[in-house]
Amino acid sequence: AKWVYSFGNGEAEGAAEMRNLLGGKGANLAEMSSLGLPVPPGFTITTEVCTWYYDHDKSYPDELGAQLFEAVDKVGVATGRNFGDTERPLLLSVRSGARVSMPGMMDTVLNLGLNDETVEALAKEANDRRFAYDSYRRFIQMYSDVVLGLDHHEFEEILETHKEQNELELDTDVDADGWLSIIAKYKDLVEEELGKPFPQDPREQLWGAVGAVFSSWMVPRAVTYRRLHDLPASWGTAVNVQAMVFGNMGEGSATGVAFTRNPSTGEKALYGEFLVNAQGEDVVAGIRTPQDITEKARIEAGSSNPSLEMLMPEAFAEFQSYCDRLEQHYKDMQDLEFTIEKGKLWMLQTRNGKRTAKAALKIAVDMVEEGVLSEEEAIGRVEPGALDQLLHPTIDPDAERDIVTTGLPASPGAASGAIVFTSDEAEKAKGDGRKVILVRVETSPEDIHGMHAAEGILTSRGGMTSHAAVVARGMGKPCVAGAGALRIDYRNGVINCAGRQLKEGDTITIDGATGQVLSGEVKMLQPVLSGDFGTLMSWADRGRRMKVRTNAETPQDAKVARDFGAEGIGLCRTEHMFFEGERIISVREMILAGSEDGRRAALAKLLPMQRKDFADLFEIMHGLPVTIRLLDPPLHEFLPKSDEELAEVATAMGADPELLRDRALALEEFNPMLGHRGCRLLVSYPEIAEMQARAIFEAAVLAAKETGAPVVPEIMVPLVGVKAELDLVKGRIEAMAKAVMEETGAELTYHVGTMIELPRAALRAAEIAQSAEFFSFGTNDLTQTTFGISRDDAASFLGTYQAKGILEQDPFVSLDQEGVGELISIATERGRATRPDIKLGICGEHGGDPASIDFCEGAGLEYVSCSPFRVPIARLAAAQSAL
Ligand code: ADP
Ligand code: MG
Ligand code: MG
Repeated sequence: AKWVYSFGNGEAEGAAEMRNLLGGKGANLAEMSSLGLPVPPGFTITTEVCTWYYDHDKSYPDELGAQLFEAVDKVGVATGRNFGDTERPLLLSVRSGARVSMPGMMDTVLNLGLNDETVEALAKEANDRRFAYDSYRRFIQMYSDVVLGLDHHEFEEILETHKEQNELELDTDVDADGWLSIIAKYKDLVEEELGKPFPQDPREQLWGAVGAVFSSWMVPRAVTYRRLHDLPASWGTAVNVQAMVFGNMGEGSATGVAFTRNPSTGEKALYGEFLVNAQGEDVVAGIRTPQDITEKARIEAGSSNPSLEMLMPEAFAEFQSYCDRLEQHYKDMQDLEFTIEKGKLWMLQTRNGKRTAKAALKIAVDMVEEGVLSEEEAIGRVEPGALDQLLHPTIDPDAERDIVTTGLPASPGAASGAIVFTSDEAEKAKGDGRKVILVRVETSPEDIHGMHAAEGILTSRGGMTSHAAVVARGMGKPCVAGAGALRIDYRNGVINCAGRQLKEGDTITIDGATGQVLSGEVKMLQPVLSGDFGTLMSWADRGRRMKVRTNAETPQDAKVARDFGAEGIGLCRTEHMFFEGERIISVREMILAGSEDGRRAALAKLLPMQRKDFADLFEIMHGLPVTIRLLDPPLHEFLPKSDEELAEVATAMGADPELLRDRALALEEFNPMLGHRGCRLLVSYPEIAEMQARAIFEAAVLAAKETGAPVVPEIMVPLVGVKAELDLVKGRIEAMAKAVMEETGAELTYHVGTMIELPRAALRAAEIAQSAEFFSFGTNDLTQTTFGISRDDAASFLGTYQAKGILEQDPFVSLDQEGVGELISIATERGRATRPDIKLGICGEHGGDPASIDFCEGAGLEYVSCSPFRVPIARLAAAQSAL
């Protein structure tokens, strides 16, 4: 089998489409090489080797060794060097690269192939001892950390001590002899820790690094990252081995990272940072403050540090031309890594750049205007779930701002919380229900859990491409990075800043839009959606087939949903209205009444309130369809809990509190979710259905008069399992419609349907469809009843199920397409066989989940219904599924 794919010198065995086999980085290195861009020659060991490695007790396929060193020789030929050579040694970088980029998850080893002999050859050849020793010390430290598993802090300490003793500030101040003495200490440290010397054999070094990349696929932080992003472990990572190029060869050399457009705003402007005389991750690690790539950005930032554009105009111009070329080629914004070795530019990586939702929208819309993308392609360029970010709060412009300091606006949105200094603290606080801002000098992959738990992230060091900034943008969390005026004192739990002091636990607000750090909690505003949002949504609306409705019962929610583009209400849960204001007392009267007469008396009090609620909703929806579900939950949910509440109801009814207490007790159930609820209540107490039907019909007449738009209510009977249940309730609804028409003289059009939320209903759909004019899949209950898993108790074990791989996803979040989905398909098919024009929709949480929406498109449902804030997501997801 072929396990290794070479690239370099304008050629490549791989290509961009081979991402699954070569990983994202490898596939794109191959592609750039084929495009003729200057990529250091190298090769990719495939993800299949990673799979093989884990399937075979961490060993390699037999042919791998031969293929690997053949490929190394090829790199040697291309560079005119030899691996391990003591005159012209070939040095390698060993880089991981999975199918999708996992920022900072996998470690890279640079300068591999150096040892006590080759380092001297390098020094002689480059005529630069400092450069050679700088590379060697980097290699020893990285290799010891990544491959040998030693603690990098101890190496840093040796370096810090050296700098202190010699009164040096920056790493770049250390001279050749300084590095040489540090190298000796590093080697001693390794020998001390491991009981054997640092490996001198380049081949052994290479095998070690390759193994470390594969092993790193299973380190806890990589596993966590995959869990958080729903990525399967089975994908594996590739290993990229590549000739080294050197950004640390003095003042004419540099290394940097860039985005072809601003990843925060989407503005079409090259955007990036670099460091002179540096290597690898110096730029993102915040070791020195990086410089701007373009002159424009430098001026905007008010920095006096020269830009790459001024410092190395030729390399800059060449780089800019590649940026344009790669954007055109990939038809997307690119995230690039490059190194300049003595004025010569080398491209080290390109990939589609991560961006905020705001930037994603702008880039998609701009690229259509630029003629790069079609409208349909643009729709596919914005991840529906990311729209959530746009709905983040921002700081009220009129609010008082007590500005402590200003850092970089690294990820949009604003957040307030108490200061914590460690990720573990942040996680603990979240568990206790406290809101916190994670404040760090800088973050690293070990902080992922804390970043997740915090409302926002604040760092004192690092740029827009620092770990904190990149990860926060990916999470859609507010982040202010590089607030350099903050002096964070972890030990004493305080921050000093320009004469002020903040303590752990103090509340601060960060504004990811301006980079401001504010003292105290500041008033926030709900977001306003930009013009690009409207543009993309209009394209999505043209592209989609399914309608998008909302689940709403309050006028407030209904209005928000309309503003977000909802095309009706798919689920109005009437019981939510029962808790409004004083009405719960009447509801309790109804429940605790001992007779039908008593119930009717209480229902009569509720009627005008319900009528008003429905009339408001009909008016807001202005002729759009509104599905109203009759009372669903078990009655005891409404019961008085305290003596006080009991006394209140007793007074209202003129009844004995003790008698009421007994009645309340009698209503208790062992298994309320499977008990006396849904249509079962309506079968027992049809007068409830009658009151609700009357309220709906009278409201329809009122609203039609008010708005001039005809109202066609859809009345939904919950939890039907047997057709006769539906028939009984439907009979009462029909009688009520007739009565209201006679009383008002108005004509009424309406539909009666049911929720499909029991497996029996799905199976008997043919029969039920004889009476039901529509089905709405209530997938929350349908998931619960199909799995036989209680929704309210699932949290205690579903996590374990996911961790053990029994279930890939929480079926209450993303539809179980095989099981629950099959029931939906059966019900759809059987329902349509009876009634070809039956209306079908979904109204569970799944109606706002892109993957579930995709399933609904395939099942041919007419609409999805979701909570108001997910309506834009559903509109976009429905368009992506249809196209
Ligand atoms: P990550 O996936 O974490 O970005 P990379 O494999 O891209 O890791 O490596 C990190 C950095 O190491 C790169 O940004 C680049 O600066 C440096 N690097 C990688 N390969 C080479 C190389 N062949 N020559 C010089 N520097 C390299
Ligand atoms: Mg890295
Ligand atoms: Mg990289």
